[in-house]
Amino acid sequence: MSELEEKSMTSAPTDFIRDIVREDLASGKYTPDDIRTRFPPEPNGYLHIGHAKAICLDFGIAKEFGGKCNLRMDDTNPGKEDREYYDSIQEDIAWLGYEWDGEVKFASDYFPKMYEFAIILIKKGLAYVDDQSAEEIRATRGTPFEPGKESPWRNRSVEENLDLFERMKNGEFPNGSKTLRAKIDMANPNINFRDPVMYRILHEAHQRTGNQWCIYPMYDWAHGLEDSLEGVTHSLCTLEFEIHRPLYNWFLEPLPIPRKPRQIEFSRLNLTYTVMSKRKLLRLVQEKFVSGWDDPRMPTVRGLRRRGYTPGSIRNFVASVGITKFNGVTDVGILENTLREELNHEASRYMAVLHPLKVVITNYPEGQIEWLDAVNNPEKPEAGTRQIPFGREIYIEQDDFKEIPPPKYFRLTVGKEVRLRWGYFIKCDEVVKDDAGNIVELRCTYDPETRGGNAPDGRKVKGTIHWVEASHAATATVREYDRLFQVPEPDVVPEGHDFTENLNPDSLRVLEDVKIEAGLAKLAPESRVQFERQGYFVADRYDHSEAKPVFNKIVGLKDSWAKIVQKEAGK
Ligand code: ATP
Ligand code: MG
Repeated sequence: MSELEEKSMTSAPTDFIRDIVREDLASGKYTPDDIRTRFPPEPNGYLHIGHAKAICLDFGIAKEFGGKCNLRMDDTNPGKEDREYYDSIQEDIAWLGYEWDGEVKFASDYFPKMYEFAIILIKKGLAYVDDQSAEEIRATRGTPFEPGKESPWRNRSVEENLDLFERMKNGEFPNGSKTLRAKIDMANPNINFRDPVMYRILHEAHQRTGNQWCIYPMYDWAHGLEDSLEGVTHSLCTLEFEIHRPLYNWFLEPLPIPRKPRQIEFSRLNLTYTVMSKRKLLRLVQEKFVSGWDDPRMPTVRGLRRRGYTPGSIRNFVASVGITKFNGVTDVGILENTLREELNHEASRYMAVLHPLKVVITNYPEGQIEWLDAVNNPEKPEAGTRQIPFGREIYIEQDDFKEIPPPKYFRLTVGKEVRLRWGYFIKCDEVVKDDAGNIVELRCTYDPETRGGNAPDGRKVKGTIHWVEASHAATATVREYDRLFQVPEPDVVPEGHDFTENLNPDSLRVLEDVKIEAGLAKLAPESRVQFERQGYFVADRYDHSEAKPVFNKIVGLKDSWAKIVQKEAGK
């Protein structure tokens, strides 16, 4: 594990939630062994970086304080088995570096216990069977300014409620014909307290419990029970549940639960230049705007992984954003910078020519190859050096030559010298063009005295360019990714418009004829490197092989968007 990776696992950032846990330990309310959190995804999509924030918090707190964290699939809604989501959630959490306690838990495993608890509430006169339809219930809920209207079925006897609830469970009533509701207060200023529905009837098979149940619990009723049954001490969720917290507590109050969990809310993570809702991400996949859930432009954990993000960079990013009660949008540049900082330390440097232009060094013997020393990572001396071939034919970047140089152009031009990285000074003598006038080759001479990059007579050249020797080079495919959306908040669209209109049409450019050092082809998939002067790249997790190297661009060396924005602002 690298130093930065290590930091992301051990440094304990502090925040109000960690303060609460610390107080609970200091006051003796809990011992470290008691501390238990949970991460409760609904297995209906892939995890995204927002989930990663919740994961780092839930698992991180358990780890830091000596407790445990459960992974619980929140499968209270019936539906098809979705093995794909279930598997990917586990794989992504493990990749992020976290371990859940024991087996994966399922909310549906608690259906029998939830049913028993509902009976307790009925017996205490705290719940009743309502014959109103969903529409009627909605219509009689009132508004924040007006109280709701009590259901005509609200004052049924306990016996009648017990009987009806049992018959609901036994499947005697059709979908939507009855609900079980908590009997609280139809005039409460908090609408969540206006006799919330606890169970609805749905004759639909469940992915795990099959046809065993035709009543399904609602989130507010179910969640606190799941937490209690697992011995969760701190139930961390996003801010939109703050207003549900009193209800979470109300449901647990009358039940024989010795130790009540405490719900604590924190702000969601939102990122600029992307969308985060599962529904929108699903649309991007289904409508083929991206190649799949793991497309390197997606904010999903597997998309970020394929893009070249490391688990440590994601953990460090989450730590740097911090845990607060304020909703906001985080600049995706911060995420990119966190990774850039890590890769600057960790990634070996190589040379790759994205848009090759052939250079023939006319005074270099034909068929001769010599080996030059190149430093692998100037930030990390222990990464050592490697030998790179030099010969009569090399490739340079098309952009690194200009026949008519603009002012302050220090790269190659006719009659001027430039330094080849780790190599010699070369001078361009002649430009070879095709019939259409395109430059197809440069004929240059080298100065044999300048091996290693310095002239013995002390003459200076300002420019240093990267290059690759032609006979040893491998040819690679490079996918240059950019941000998926061209505006910072793609979700914000005028009436009648769609967020997909904000997609960046240039978010993927595929280069098929990239000349790379042969050593790059031999790297294992998911190896991360710097292409000198170009940026950071990763060998694709699935498509890369020695025979057919494929690299994805992770990020540039600098934040190019900051520059563009500045330029647009006229700076
Ligand atoms: P979406 O709105 O994208 O469908 P969700 O909240 O319905 O997401 P769940 O699978 O229910 O998705 O989420 C599991 C956990 O992850 C929840 O505890 C939720 O609070 C948390 N979570 C989801 N999105 C974010 C986010 N953007 N930032 C922080 N935590 C999040
Ligand atoms: Mg949810």
